[in-house]
Amino acid sequence: MDILIKALALNEKVRVYLASTVDITNEAVKRHDLWPSAASVLGKAMTIGVMMGSMLKGDEALTIKIDGNGPIGVVVVDANAAGEVRGYVTREHVLFDKKGTLDDVTTLGYNGFIDVIKDLKLKDLFTSTIPLQTGDLAKDFTYYFATSEQTPSLVSLGSLFDVNNQAIVLGGIIIQLLPDATEEDINYIESKVNILSSYSSLLKDNPDQEDILKLLFNDDYKIVEKKNISFRCNCSKEKFAGGIASLGKEEIEDMINTDKKAEVICHFCKEVYTFDENELREILKHAKGKTKNEGNK
Ligand SMILES: [Zn+2]
Repeated sequence: MDILIKALALNEKVRVYLASTVDITNEAVKRHDLWPSAASVLGKAMTIGVMMGSMLKGDEALTIKIDGNGPIGVVVVDANAAGEVRGYVTREHVLFDKKGTLDDVTTLGYNGFIDVIKDLKLKDLFTSTIPLQTGDLAKDFTYYFATSEQTPSLVSLGSLFDVNNQAIVLGGIIIQLLPDATEEDINYIESKVNILSSYSSLLKDNPDQEDILKLLFNDDYKIVEKKNISFRCNCSKEKFAGGIASLGKEEIEDMINTDKKAEVICHFCKEVYTFDENELREILKHAKGKTKNEGNK
């Protein structure tokens, strides 16, 4: 089971998020038939998403959209405060490696943007956009937190896959300096950058993420939250029926006349929803617009 840990460290002057996301990533591999490079990039993006989701509260949620103009296309991740995350990429069958290591930067590209859209259950959504700096998500999100959220942070991510395209290690850490952090605290964190730079090895050697906290902060940390996280899509046949209804009567009549059914696939989880003729006629009743006959009157 994937776990997210939220902790305070260095006399509560530093906040730490850790997420292990092997199961979430393998669920995405299964649903989207991802090849390892696509899985590595999506897995890391979902790891960031689930950690950022835990910075929210109540029923708040966020969407991360990353477009680096690379072979994978666009990466989209939704996450919420409850530890639920889902995601997809434009192209699933992507594999680039460099000397046996997956090449995330080539996969994602680095000529584009990251959008973070937060739904804080207010009137408007909050969107911040930053240009991609490197195509390395850990570095780019370090930049995001510094510029968009004015929170000095250190982000590290890691992934390892076996020969069957299954993630065996996947996860990440975000260390954030709180306002009363001192020069000394900053230096302390900087002294740990080396250990954190190979996060895949660190996770592989320490499957229990608490051991990583111990390694970084000895006993100077306090866990404030520890929870299960999961790949979860909130799509439903009802929601897609609403989507079909919004196409308008004329379009739905066309579907009934040509195919006698409609098939909709959820981008996020690849669940297929089929609507037969009767169901389409039911949706037609509630749809907006005029039917062709009505239009001719
Ligand atoms: Zn879905």
